[in-house]
Amino acid sequence: MSALEIRNVDKTFGIEKVLKDISLAIDSGEFLILVGPSGCGKSTLMNAIAGLEPVTAGEILIGGDDVTWRTPAERDIAMVFQSYALYPSMTVRQNISFGLEMRKMPKAQREEAVSRVAELLQITPLLDRKPSQLSGGQRQRVAMGRALAREPQIYLFDEPLSNLDAKLRVEMRTEIKKLHQRLGTTIVYVTHDQIEAMTLADRIAVMRDGEILQLGTPDEVYNDPVDMFVAGFMGSPS
Ligand code: ADP
Ligand code: MG
Repeated sequence: MSALEIRNVDKTFGIEKVLKDISLAIDSGEFLILVGPSGCGKSTLMNAIAGLEPVTAGEILIGGDDVTWRTPAERDIAMVFQSYALYPSMTVRQNISFGLEMRKMPKAQREEAVSRVAELLQITPLLDRKPSQLSGGQRQRVAMGRALAREPQIYLFDEPLSNLDAKLRVEMRTEIKKLHQRLGTTIVYVTHDQIEAMTLADRIAVMRDGEILQLGTPDEVYNDPVDMFVAGFMGSPS
């Protein structure tokens, strides 16, 4: 059984068909990267998986359960998006704890979860600070901590590093890779950075105009692209 299965999903905004019959099965523990040019539907697909946008047709299954008509809170998913808004008036500790509180986790367990992710992401010394007292990279870590505290079945990352400078991006990339290896979680990750895709992915899905053109290992997609578009996009040798 797949951790996440997308079956024949269509999404239409007005008269524009943004997702066209997308089908995709992701294994438990798999790191799947979605790449493709701006506007091809990556975020729309992520939002559909998260339940933030209803699909026009098709089904979404998590751990074999049909969640197509469930709210985001009813799906066992955590998200880190490009604009990782932290609550400015809350401390780091409260930011991480808040979502757990919303999910009615008892206090002792919440504290335990906060300590665990803080240690994992090396933000323990920052727990009592406010977001305004953090650097961009530290804020990004807190946003990630907030997602990781939940231990959901699936993580969705939509260009989580695109607001960071190059040096931090490389650091965070390494950290995300370590986290995945350590926790063995299922991740769907959007990036337009080919190097990020090549270094992080178990498999890469290349999208264009609402369709998946190719799905394969980094080696397959890079060395054996299905067409000129994929080759160009991945920077494959000609
Ligand atoms: P990507 O993340 O790959 O850059 P998006 O999924 O954000 O692309 O957008 C895909 C297409 O859907 C774009 O043409 C975008 O303008 C359109 N779109 C996205 N969200 C909405 C929305 N809420 N209403 C109308 N059109 C939208
Ligand atoms: Mg996007």
